Amino acid sequence: MHYTATVYRPPVEANNILLQVTSGCSHNSCKFCNMYEGVSFRVSPLEEIEEDLNEIRQFNPNAKRVYLVGGDPFVLSFEKLKPILLKIKEYLPKCERISMAGRISNTKNKTVEQLKELRSSGLSFIYFGMESGDDETLLHINKKQTAQEIVEQCKKIEEAGIEYHLIYLNGLAGAKRGNDHALESAKVINQLKPTEISITSLTLFPGTELHKAAQRGEFIESTELERIIELKTFIEQLDTDTYIYVHYTTAVSLEGTFPENKQMMLNKLQYIINNFDEEIYRKRREKIRTV
Ligand code: SF4
Repeated sequence: MHYTATVYRPPVEANNILLQVTSGCSHNSCKFCNMYEGVSFRVSPLEEIEEDLNEIRQFNPNAKRVYLVGGDPFVLSFEKLKPILLKIKEYLPKCERISMAGRISNTKNKTVEQLKELRSSGLSFIYFGMESGDDETLLHINKKQTAQEIVEQCKKIEEAGIEYHLIYLNGLAGAKRGNDHALESAKVINQLKPTEISITSLTLFPGTELHKAAQRGEFIESTELERIIELKTFIEQLDTDTYIYVHYTTAVSLEGTFPENKQMMLNKLQYIINNFDEEIYRKRREKIRTV
């Protein structure tokens, strides 16, 4: 198998086929991210992908789920992506689900008709790093997307019948704008119907621009308690049908269908707020080395 660098995949994809189609991230400039530090963006040639598919077919010809590896394989144009999807179906005819990560802006170079065609060629699910719906925060972290673009592009994905996941990055706006980050993010998502939302909590990794800004005193990190209060505001304001779960970087565990479990989540967050021990959560975060 051709794997260029560290392979990142969502936890739920752990038991699925991991097929590399890109290496690195085409953007690689979000100020909080160190996932693809030192990894050049590269598109795998179709012959290389075919070699891997041939290898996979030999040990797992009945594979049902394939995850396309790379920071944002969805950046590939319709013309490049469709043949890859068709090759997967050719080598693994029992495959029922093909998923991948993408930047929301990767949708801009595809029409709804093309997205529908990708859907019928096997693309079922995309993981998008929304991070925030607050324009000031998005600008500050160099995400290169706006709230309006998030809504417009995700609506195209919905129209094409592709399921998708949005990541909310708790604490991303720092101490000053946490409340706006929560309110604006909920406002954006309330216009959408993501299949899932996961909540990750910001950890400042050495070498990232945000870590450097914090060291210079230009970015004031939210305390652990401020993050939980921000998260409660986000959940309070959220009003859509979805499924919510948290990443291990988040200090609390929340999981369930939404809005059915909204009140349970709010009660839990309020209990944690009332009984909070900053020191325990801070020490836990200091041990986190990477997402
Ligand atoms: S957060 Fe995602 S889009 Fe941003 S640099 Fe990291 S992998 Fe790329």
